[in-house]
Amino acid sequence: MKYRIGQGFDVHKLKKGRDLYLGGILIDSPHGAVGHSDADVLIHAICDSLLGAAALGDIGTHFPDSSPEFKNIDSKILLSRVVELLKMNHYRISNIDSTLILESPKIMPYIGAIKKSLSQVMGIKEEFISVKATTNERMGYVGRGEGICAHAVALIKVA
Ligand code: MG
Repeated sequence: MKYRIGQGFDVHKLKKGRDLYLGGILIDSPHGAVGHSDADVLIHAICDSLLGAAALGDIGTHFPDSSPEFKNIDSKILLSRVVELLKMNHYRISNIDSTLILESPKIMPYIGAIKKSLSQVMGIKEEFISVKATTNERMGYVGRGEGICAHAVALIKVA
């Protein structure tokens, strides 16, 4: 079996005055995500898609939110550790597709910077990373601006 696919999902609460990090990029926003780490919902979903593809558990088992080691940690560090873990298990990343779901702010102006940031952390070219964004059409907790979600799919190849 040469290729394996994985899926990841994450959600965080939004709060006024918090920083909003997406894909390692600080987004200009009146509200940010709440979490034990820097609450980068996009990176967390990508981590879970990669771990899922390799059947190596999930982000919670590798980086428990009960551990002080991961308090306010830059999620780029978590992603680099996941990539390292995959390498150790003889996998390499083929491509990533992801979708952010939030009402505001608009993410389109940041997509280039986010892809560049993810590309640097994962050591793969930007052309193999897709980041999309949509709103929740003002419905539910995302629609009310209470939370932010991210979905990711990863394809990995046995190296
Ligand atoms: Mg998370």
